[in-house]
Amino acid sequence: MKHYPVVELQGDGIGPELSAAVHRLAERLPFRIDWQSIDISVEAREKGGKELYDRAVKAIEDVGVALKHPTATVKESPNQVLRKRLNLQVIHRPVQTIPGIPTNFKADVDLDVVRIATGGTYDDPGQLIGTEAAVSLRIIEKEPCRQAALFAFELARKTKRSVTSSSKHTIQKVTDGLFESVVKEVAKDYPEVTHRVELFDALLAKLVLKPQSFQIVLVLNEYGDFLSDMACGLIGSLGIGASGNYGFDKNKGIRVGMFDASHGTAPDIAGQGKANPTAIFLAFALLLYHRGEVRTASAIKNSTLELLREGISTPDVGGKLGTVEFTDEVAKRVEKKLIDPSWTSKTIRLHADKLGADKLGKA
Ligand code: NAD
Repeated sequence: MKHYPVVELQGDGIGPELSAAVHRLAERLPFRIDWQSIDISVEAREKGGKELYDRAVKAIEDVGVALKHPTATVKESPNQVLRKRLNLQVIHRPVQTIPGIPTNFKADVDLDVVRIATGGTYDDPGQLIGTEAAVSLRIIEKEPCRQAALFAFELARKTKRSVTSSSKHTIQKVTDGLFESVVKEVAKDYPEVTHRVELFDALLAKLVLKPQSFQIVLVLNEYGDFLSDMACGLIGSLGIGASGNYGFDKNKGIRVGMFDASHGTAPDIAGQGKANPTAIFLAFALLLYHRGEVRTASAIKNSTLELLREGISTPDVGGKLGTVEFTDEVAKRVEKKLIDPSWTSKTIRLHADKLGADKLGKA
């Protein structure tokens, strides 16, 4: 039986319940996950300080993949610290209509946001000029732009989808212009991938009007931040999604991947056995997809979303099941799919290469 080592970063609030759910699901998979658990909850951070982060970073660098549970932001945001320390330059956030989740928006969304995770205005806190003005520095570096573009075009090639790069290059001519010029250079190596450029304000309007026109959207840090949340608003949920955060090696291969759910620690329901593990399952599926376990990853994702579509879910999305019961339902369906040859041939062809981008509700 194959073994995959995975660093698991334990968090706060519902973190332990989500961790137990992922373990419960992982036990039913046709391979073993060797969890290397590191507690980065508030208490552990208070005790462990910088050395705790040193240990987490070393473990992730050694193992190459981590599943991170939600952590409370107290003094610092562990996500930000880890992104910086691990030099995670690209965030991939699939955003798709989730069957069964009520939304004001009627059209289907099926978007992969690929965001440069560093720079822009976010790396500079800014400074006051006298008392009446403030200024901040906007930093755009070619290297993360190139990595993000490579990631987006590779995803596009595998999933046979288009890439839209978006910025305000007509106004921010130097900074956004540099980003678009790097993207154009990378695009030359992918002649089979359609590449379009959209001004960011126009993109937002077009996305709302015709979401089906956009597939993979490649953007700088701030734009990616706004776009991901807007897209999540369209699908009716900020919380039921997951991201892959990637760092790269000298040869532009993926060096480390850290996968997490988008929601927080949900302190209001912690310890009550009703946390929804959907997002952490989607994060786990992205991790397995990254490790090459495409079939199992696809089975986890499709089983989880299928159940939501059928209204079999936890109370936060209108269902009646507790975390453990929902996890067992997911595990049952995953097992069924994995032994069903017809599911393999039909669904894997549809979903294998596009875990981050498959059409929900049609599996
Ligand atoms: P939150 O996402 O924790 O909670 C918002 C609401 O959504 C709550 O009502 C909560 O019960 C519900 N919810 C969230 N996840 C759920 C799940 N899996 N199942 C069922 N219900 C769920 O956001 P918040 O209250 O603004 O933040 C709480 C803490 O989480 C803060 O300390 C914040 O800093 C932290 N946070 C961490 C991360 C992260 O680690 N990635 C992300 C966001 C917020």
